[in-house]
Amino acid sequence: MPEKIEKTIIIGSGPAGLTAGIYLGRAKQKPLLIEGRQPGGQLTTTTKVENWPGDKEIQGFKLMMNMKEHAKNSGCEIISDTVTKIDLSKKPYTVFTKSEKELKAESIIIATGATHKKLGIPGEEEYWSKGVSVCATCDAPFFQDKNVIIVGGGDSAVTEAEHLRNFAKKVTIIHILEELTATDPIKDKILEDPKVEIIYNSTLTKIEGDGEKATKVEIEHQKTNDKKTLETDGVFIAIGMKPNTEFLKDQIELDEYGYIILKEKTSTSKEGVFAAGDVHDYVYKQAITASGFGCMAALDCQKYLGKK
Ligand SMILES: Cc1cc2nc3c(=O)[nH]c(=O)nc-3n(C[C@H](O)[C@H](O)[C@H](O)COP(=O)(O)OP(=O)(O)OC[C@H]3O[C@@H](n4cnc5c(N)ncnc54)[C@H](O)[C@@H]3O)c2cc1C
Repeated sequence: MPEKIEKTIIIGSGPAGLTAGIYLGRAKQKPLLIEGRQPGGQLTTTTKVENWPGDKEIQGFKLMMNMKEHAKNSGCEIISDTVTKIDLSKKPYTVFTKSEKELKAESIIIATGATHKKLGIPGEEEYWSKGVSVCATCDAPFFQDKNVIIVGGGDSAVTEAEHLRNFAKKVTIIHILEELTATDPIKDKILEDPKVEIIYNSTLTKIEGDGEKATKVEIEHQKTNDKKTLETDGVFIAIGMKPNTEFLKDQIELDEYGYIILKEKTSTSKEGVFAAGDVHDYVYKQAITASGFGCMAALDCQKYLGKK
């Protein structure tokens, strides 16, 4: 039997991958989507989403299951598997999966997103999305007139502080070093704002709560090892993200942090390989922008297949 060659394999089932699936499915391209370890992507780990147009409020999990159903109904085949490696040295391209499949494809859309780095401390998982957040753009309005803590001292931390200081009563930044490492000019505004307190040389060791939401944290001074407890309404972890691109090593161009480098529009350094969402976009990092990129990658991919 001749080897089956997929027109497009989409890797990842977050907003970027599923939107690409909807577009290519509706265009009768019969895309195959490999959903990975986190079906539905990052949004399935949150509770309320209030910035998805058309839904004033929707649970993240529900939104993503709606999107998955939509992609399937549009003609996108979805399989539960994880990509371990891809070979782009010759066409058709080969996609290797954890369940030892070797799939061939004329084109690929990479939508594997990024993972927020976590602190790995007690209480972090328990209060995830119950006061513990990684996205001030998404969650700042929930903290109107509240006290919040930001963990970190780089550009992500000052950007989170910039969002939060417009809502919160007080913002406390806990930073492990002696001074902020952020280079973003926002840093100066943060340093001058009397609403923002910065506690240097300190790190979080514990998050505690009342079972429903986070209410306090324990911090430890790096030099004296002194510990103290701070009351809080929210904890924003801003210690960076890691793009999910390990399986792409030596196959396409990545930047120094591992994000995919886009060439023209959504094209990568390999012909017929496109990228969409947080896997290349370290600036906007929103569901709507990931979906937008998914749409763009699908249209670019369709054009590429049409030219072939
Ligand atoms: C707690 C939290 C709350 C958030 N709240 C909001 C919000 O309210 N509003 C908003 O707009 N944004 C929010 N965001 C941000 C938003 O979730 C992301 O910007 C968006 O999900 C990015 O979409 P994506 O499709 O690029 O990637 P992701 O959602 O990260 O999805 C990546 C997908 O790739 C798959 N994958 C990874 N590696 C592999 C592999 N090797 N093989 C196969 N598949 C793989 C995963 O299983 C997953 O399905 C939030 C994020 C978090 C973490």
